[in-house]
Amino acid sequence: MAQNPHIAPFAFDLDASDLAAEKRKARELRASQWWKRRCAKGQCHWCGQNVPAKELTMDHIVPISRGGKSAKNNVVAACKTCNTKKKQLLPMEWAHYLQSLGRIAEGGGHESTS
Ligand SMILES: [Zn+2]
Repeated sequence: MAQNPHIAPFAFDLDASDLAAEKRKARELRASQWWKRRCAKGQCHWCGQNVPAKELTMDHIVPISRGGKSAKNNVVAACKTCNTKKKQLLPMEWAHYLQSLGRIAEGGGHESTS
């Protein structure tokens, strides 16, 4: 066999290693003081409910699977309910969910007549 192990076969595999790298970074971030302080606030970023720090989970605003990074500006503390919902819903449905919570209150909607 003359297989060269150094040839990366498909982009898919590169993707997978990117994913693994981001997951590793997420784990490191989760162990950081920054994250602990974040959780110490005890509030879900999405629904704004008070949640015990130990029940907060790290949620990627842009999921890793969609090219999101494990960076401070892309992770938030979320309650399990929101985290699970976010995983299950399509981005559009998720936006609706946030709207229903009243979390997206800024203008920019289509009905801006006063
Ligand atoms: Zn929540």
